[in-house]
Amino acid sequence: MLNSQVVEKAVRPFNIDEIRDDFPILKRLVNGKPLVYLDNAATAQKPQSVIDSLIHYYTFENANIHRGLHFLSELATESYETARLKVKEFLNAMSVSEIIFVRGATEGINLVANSFCRSEHFKDGDEVIITAMEHHANIVPWQLIGKRKRIKLRVIPVSDEGEIDIEEYEKLINPKTKLVSVVHISNALGTINPVKKIISIAHSYNIPVLLDGAQSTPHLKIDVQDLGCDFFAFSGHKMFAPTGIGVLYGKTQYLDMMPPYQGGGDMIREVTFEHTTFDDLPHKFEAGTPNIAGGIGLGAAIDYVNQFDRNEILKYEQDLLVYATKRLLEIDELRIIGTAKEKASVISFAVKGIHPYDIGTIIDTDGVAIRTGHHCAQPLMKRYNLPATARASFTFYNTFEEADKLAESVKKVIKMFR
Ligand code: PMP
Repeated sequence: MLNSQVVEKAVRPFNIDEIRDDFPILKRLVNGKPLVYLDNAATAQKPQSVIDSLIHYYTFENANIHRGLHFLSELATESYETARLKVKEFLNAMSVSEIIFVRGATEGINLVANSFCRSEHFKDGDEVIITAMEHHANIVPWQLIGKRKRIKLRVIPVSDEGEIDIEEYEKLINPKTKLVSVVHISNALGTINPVKKIISIAHSYNIPVLLDGAQSTPHLKIDVQDLGCDFFAFSGHKMFAPTGIGVLYGKTQYLDMMPPYQGGGDMIREVTFEHTTFDDLPHKFEAGTPNIAGGIGLGAAIDYVNQFDRNEILKYEQDLLVYATKRLLEIDELRIIGTAKEKASVISFAVKGIHPYDIGTIIDTDGVAIRTGHHCAQPLMKRYNLPATARASFTFYNTFEEADKLAESVKKVIKMFR
């Protein structure tokens, strides 16, 4: 009887003190003060288990993968391919052959731009629809390829609150539209876009959709089959994994029609000086020695977040967002940019008469780390007539006390300037 019972994995209770203990860097001082790390949208900190997975790999398993028959090569291959399986389950993809390891969201989108746009799917003068809130990673690749194949970008406008206009989106669709490529959660505004609606509209015209999931994987449970997206790109480092590793998910029907992105070892079946045949998916898109340790570290990060009930994490982050927003809005001179109804725990703000760089630099002396600048979204800054914003981005290891410290520190800056 016991063998046939399904053993449910116990969910780890959400205990903020224990969670913070998992992230060693959170204990360090910055400028003599406890670190208040509110730059998670740029990169997240790493739990000890992820750090340990890298040490373990380099200490006991290091070898090149896929090519060797010796013990260590097989071990490293198994660890790397196990990580791919974890990613497949994390995204609820149909198959591991849909999971392509890349450097990050940027490389994932560049892969689609370079390869999909070279396929039969695209002709000169075809169009890609994006939104006005895209990161440069979902603008520039289309422009670069556009120089070769003249692909035109059409842009869905964004309201003052930071929400996209669905009616305008539908008006942009025409027979030349060959791809819709949109950000799931905006790094600059925090807006959670209505991606299911965007996808169902695109699919009603048989147009595939790419989601830039750089900011959504750390906050939301992702199910690519439920979302229905055709491509999904994300970066490991924003979801507690090492830098230099990320994933492009693609539906087999599209990956199959796409030519390889880069050529080299590990992606071929047979090479002569005249002709090359390519390996099966996903290896066709993975030329050269990959970031093996990074892939294993990403697997460890997935194990880390999978311990928790993701809904409980999201609820905590949403409470933190509401609280931090309230504390910041107590400051008369402060304005929040991005007030969409559906928001992740990202708060972009501007303070009248004070440049965001001054805010960021001064609050750093209190140990408070936020990001200031255009957040790689210059067209969006232009839309709001701002050169830059200050951005505090929270994740589940942040606390309500840290939101208080942010507000107090910003108040101090205003006092200094008055
Ligand atoms: N898209 C969004 C929405 C992002 O926030 C980022 C990173 N700031 C990227 C893409 C690019 O991610 P990476 O630099 O890790 O490739």
